[in-house]
Amino acid sequence: MAAEKTRAIVLRATPFGETSSVVGIYCREFGKLRALAKGAWRPKSGFDGGLDLLSTSQVLVLRKSSGGLDLLTEASLESRFRVGTSLTAVLGGLHVAELLDALTADADPQPELFDVAHATVRRLSGWSGDDSPVATILVALELALLRLTGHGPVLTHCAECHGSLPASGRTAFAMLDGGTVCDRCRRGRRGVVSLSAAGLAALRDLSSGPVEPQPMPTTVTGEIRGLMTTYLAHLLGRPLRVPATLVRGGRRARHS
Ligand SMILES: [Zn+2]
Repeated sequence: MAAEKTRAIVLRATPFGETSSVVGIYCREFGKLRALAKGAWRPKSGFDGGLDLLSTSQVLVLRKSSGGLDLLTEASLESRFRVGTSLTAVLGGLHVAELLDALTADADPQPELFDVAHATVRRLSGWSGDDSPVATILVALELALLRLTGHGPVLTHCAECHGSLPASGRTAFAMLDGGTVCDRCRRGRRGVVSLSAAGLAALRDLSSGPVEPQPMPTTVTGEIRGLMTTYLAHLLGRPLRVPATLVRGGRRARHS
């Protein structure tokens, strides 16, 4: 079997034996893989720096035809995740890795997912100075990943009856329906969060594509962070490890 070459983001690396490592990587051409990197921790191995968390590397991988771990034979570092002065940006990078891992199945190639995640990791790498835009960048990334994996929230009409939403004031967001619901459909529903007009407008803006996120008041970033955290936990059936700490002063979504 010939080794195949691809670009990959390193999502995790666990020691295996004395000098080897089992790595979780997201490859542009093959999707998410778990692979054994033999001798990864040996000095002068073929993996020099290429298996550091959140690095992007060119890897050579031998795919197993059925079950078991793939074999990673080489990783050459293309770009490393640098720690700047912002802890929020570092946690943001870890959050990207966790999401990419949690929202994808093994060996299901989606080059666009790779591109979106890679661009975000590059933006967060080496972040120094004011880190208030990080929260918005991450919500934009979450919405893009959700859209590409078929879980993008409905934000323009009622997710249940497809009717129109209230013209003003707060709008209900139902976790089970995966989006906004009209006043009629929200009645008696569980897991409903109330979203301000500014919060809904911000989510719509950020889900509309790869535009530069605009600065937002912290009350709005706190609100949409809370909603996304609740929605992601609902989708995955467990809370994510990182997001609660992403926004200083962020608050939990308001249940109604
Ligand atoms: Zn409805």
